[in-house]
Amino acid sequence: MKKLSTLISIIVLFFYLSVPISAATYTDHVFYGNFSDLPSPCCFSKNNVTWWVASTGPISESTNAASKWGTQSVWIDFVRHYSLSSSTMLQVQRDNNLPSGVGGVTYYYNSSRNMISGSNVKSGTNFKYAGIFINMNAVSGWTTAQKNMNTGHEFGHAMSLGHFEDGGFSGRHTGDHWMHSGKRSMNSPSTTDGSHYRVKWESR
Ligand SMILES: [Zn+2]
Ligand SMILES: [Zn+2]
Repeated sequence: MKKLSTLISIIVLFFYLSVPISAATYTDHVFYGNFSDLPSPCCFSKNNVTWWVASTGPISESTNAASKWGTQSVWIDFVRHYSLSSSTMLQVQRDNNLPSGVGGVTYYYNSSRNMISGSNVKSGTNFKYAGIFINMNAVSGWTTAQKNMNTGHEFGHAMSLGHFEDGGFSGRHTGDHWMHSGKRSMNSPSTTDGSHYRVKWESR
């Protein structure tokens, strides 16, 4: 009897630990919705995410973000468009009217270019386009590594990742990550950023 009750308590503990953590990991940190032109769960062949950055936007930071996220998964290639077209999936530009404490934001749009809320994307609504807006005034005094983290963070949102501080006590990640909000010095995503990206974009 003692063995049986120990087994039951281990099983109960396992469920107690695993259910809230996995739920938080998928819905808070890895959104169900994604670019409607990409399959999910991803993928059995190469898929392109086409992106464009305005001449007044964060050019080197966007190039770094596409490069660094691009090495996290073999199934997504970032393809830069040097001129904007209706097929461009991700646009990056400046918005110096953002509040001074905000380095950047990402918005999601449907095929009519109407906005879709982040909470809807989190729960599974797909989007045709994403728009990243970087507060070039606010970040002008930041270091290169801080600016790379800021734009890399927004690219992560465009690729359906959420904030790592979300999800309640059991689900959140502390420490430095591209997807942990704040001003951080990071030229590359953390291993935790990468593992979340692969949950979303690697073939399983
Ligand atoms: Zn997580
Ligand atoms: Zn964010």
